[in-house]
Amino acid sequence: MPRILITGGAGFLGSHLCDRFIKEGYQVIAMDNLLTGSKDNIAHLFPLPEFEYYHNDVSNFVHVAGPLDYILHFASPASPIDYLKMPIQTLKVGALGTHNLLGLAKEKKARILVASTSEVYGDPLIHPQPEEYWGNVNPVGPRGVYDEAKRFLEAITMAYHNYHGLETRIIRIFNTYGSRMRTDDGRVLPAFFSQAIRGEGLTIFGDGSQSRSFCYVDDLVEGIYRLLLSDYHLPVNIGNPDEITIMDFAKEVLALVNNPAAHIIHHDLPVDDPKIRQPDITKAREILGWEPTVDREEGLKRTFEYFKTVVK
Ligand code: NAD
Ligand code: UDP
Repeated sequence: MPRILITGGAGFLGSHLCDRFIKEGYQVIAMDNLLTGSKDNIAHLFPLPEFEYYHNDVSNFVHVAGPLDYILHFASPASPIDYLKMPIQTLKVGALGTHNLLGLAKEKKARILVASTSEVYGDPLIHPQPEEYWGNVNPVGPRGVYDEAKRFLEAITMAYHNYHGLETRIIRIFNTYGSRMRTDDGRVLPAFFSQAIRGEGLTIFGDGSQSRSFCYVDDLVEGIYRLLLSDYHLPVNIGNPDEITIMDFAKEVLALVNNPAAHIIHHDLPVDDPKIRQPDITKAREILGWEPTVDREEGLKRTFEYFKTVVK
């Protein structure tokens, strides 16, 4: 049985990854400090003998007894309101946390996959974004704490690969959604679903002409699984290229939830909010044979079923 450590294992993506690797027959260790995650996301795994949970802040120190074959480093605040509230923890987990996990991977001779982000492209001047694009990031703006932490994560991961010969994988994740997102994490999809279900105003930041491309969580998990088992060490974009403006996205959520009290309101656009975003997934297609299979209509329907059960 291969043994895998998943940091951020109690979070949205981490908990779905725990499910997937348990299903594939791995021994799974979820490590988390519950900064933005919750044990509720993995409560169903606790009775399984092949599952372990370690409560630990990976920015301080990481110890795992026994052998490890793989590490997935997903610990980090991920929503803009989370990382704006916790700028130092965000920088530390991207920098010190990543360093600790690379050190652990080296000691255990494990392969490590680190979670990077489309935010490394900043407010992009090239569209859609291929992996070769170096990005347009404001290092001293409010989002810099996340974007630069992830750029450092990529740089130190490449250094461990080149200098120590470590087996490394880097995924650049574009906006992903699905069950287990926190209703109050401030990201656009949980915000809109919660507001629509409660019959409140859907808070569009700015005029809503900015765009994003939303990927359903099961598709992302499949991409991560394939990348981990591939032999490709350079960054790979995983996301759904189907791009939509935030205004049109709000209208889709309104139509699906169908609550006559819900409506659209406008708030100020946050500083440095990227205007456009769409992954170029040529590499994922060619190297991993991966592409998304769940379209937004289907993904939103499934996610609505989840939000119905958790929005108070
Ligand atoms: P999330 O907030 O649900 O999960 C992050 C998890 O990391 C939480 O459980 C949190 O408690 C844990 N964590 C944070 N700091 C920690 C620390 N110092 N030590 C141990 N655990 C810590 O967010 P998510 O959406 O699941 O994101 C997971 C990863 O994927 C992040 O690294 C994020 O940057 C990356 N990512 C996500 C998206 C997306 O659309 N969801 C997009 C790009 C990148
Ligand atoms: N957004 C919005 N209303 C909200 C939350 C977000 O209009 O209540 C916008 C935000 O300005 C951005 C997009 O939706 O343009 C996606 O925001 P999110 O925080 O989900 O992720 P980002 O891609 O910005 O990291």
